Amino acid sequence: MPTGTVAAVFATLDEARDVASTCTRCELSEGRANVVFGIGSPACEVMFIGEGPGAEEDRLGVPFVGRSGQLLDRLVTEEMGLSRDEIAICNTVKCRPPGNRDPKPTEIEACKPFLDAQITHIDPLVIVTLGNFAARLLLDTKTGITKLRGTEYPFRDRVLVPTFHPAAALRGGGVVLAQLRADLVRAKLVLAR
Ligand code: URA
Repeated sequence: MPTGTVAAVFATLDEARDVASTCTRCELSEGRANVVFGIGSPACEVMFIGEGPGAEEDRLGVPFVGRSGQLLDRLVTEEMGLSRDEIAICNTVKCRPPGNRDPKPTEIEACKPFLDAQITHIDPLVIVTLGNFAARLLLDTKTGITKLRGTEYPFRDRVLVPTFHPAAALRGGGVVLAQLRADLVRAKLVLAR
């Protein structure tokens, strides 16, 4: 199923969450402590999509709670005036890749129906993808985030704003951080339209 089409696989968000909670569609299920399905409800106007859970997220079953998540929370508050309970957050894969390796294409593909269900049922006005994996998946491109970011893209009658993963800002500092902030302002302006 192409990601750009709306999945009718799960009738509700709760159904998708239930099925994900016992999912064994790929090998990532073997090493997980918890499925990190994601947070957010149809009341959320913005959805952030990262790569995959890290150690802290796997331990707690909640997305973006480690160092990257703390930076994301701070930037979203400072640049968009939103708190964590006002936004949806999920990942391309719902189980932690061992040793924080990149998720494999087969794992992303296996997990895609869950992400499709989240996008369909939460139906945010703006999707902000964080890093290469979510941007490439949803925009169906091999182009990297450095080239993709800095503008907005149409996505299923809504708007997609790609930006760097907060981990890249933690590693790269100044310029990357400033560009991430600018992209969040871009997303906020879409909401204000
Ligand atoms: N990095 C991600 O991509 N997702 C998380 O949930 C945490 C860190």
